[in-house]
Amino acid sequence: MLAVFFKGFVFLCLIFAFSGCSVKDIEYVPEEPVNVESITEEDDLFEIGENYRLPVLGFHHVGDTPIHLSESAKQWYIETDTFLGMLDFIIDEGYEAITASNLNEYLESGRIPSKPIMLTFDDGAIDFYTVVFPIIKERKIPVTLFIMTGVGGKNFVNKEQVIEMHDSGFVDIQSHTKYHAYLTRINGEERKVELEGSKDYIENLLDKEAVAIAYPFGLHDDAVVEDVMDVGYKLGFTIVSGNEHLRDDRFRLHRKLVTENTDLSVVLYE
Ligand SMILES: [Zn+2]
Repeated sequence: MLAVFFKGFVFLCLIFAFSGCSVKDIEYVPEEPVNVESITEEDDLFEIGENYRLPVLGFHHVGDTPIHLSESAKQWYIETDTFLGMLDFIIDEGYEAITASNLNEYLESGRIPSKPIMLTFDDGAIDFYTVVFPIIKERKIPVTLFIMTGVGGKNFVNKEQVIEMHDSGFVDIQSHTKYHAYLTRINGEERKVELEGSKDYIENLLDKEAVAIAYPFGLHDDAVVEDVMDVGYKLGFTIVSGNEHLRDDRFRLHRKLVTENTDLSVVLYE
């Protein structure tokens, strides 16, 4: 686990080093926001028991790997063809892609599709907009994008792109804090700024509820979960592998980080 944190940290250092980070202000609110909706009819939903099965895949980058990156940073890049093959597999296996917003509604209602899957993307790197967004829009596969609302620059999606993707109906924008915070290591006041600031930003920008957070580096503990709940989030995503979740624990949702070598025929059925 420590190795994963370290690699994530190195990866972010590299991104920050090349991005020319800047803080963005809120200016634009779309007139008619489109909400991402599930395709399953009410009658086809199944009762959620104490546990429910939902593979949640965590991606970072799709596309050509920049040559200047270290080997550990390169692992977070997936070739476009590999990604397309993964989507083919998911569809061929009969999965229905749902978003974090969908999941929140399903948990509220106590009913969920029979074979759901979540595709999530962390950080809001620009290749999500240039590579992933056209693909998922064309294939009509809804995904969840966890953005850092305080980080900008050419390597990250900008405000207009976030609005465009949200308006498409295929990208559910959720929080990854403001500055990719180490939530377990900062104090309560700093944590509140990270949690509340990113939630408010998304809600003001897109006129929708930000229900979910993906913990940066997967870092979370009881104090973090308590603050996340206090601020009003409904779901918290970790990087602990596992396809099963407890119905009553919405803030320690499992998630499988995906690399070029991930074999979905194995990880989706563990
Ligand atoms: Zn991240």
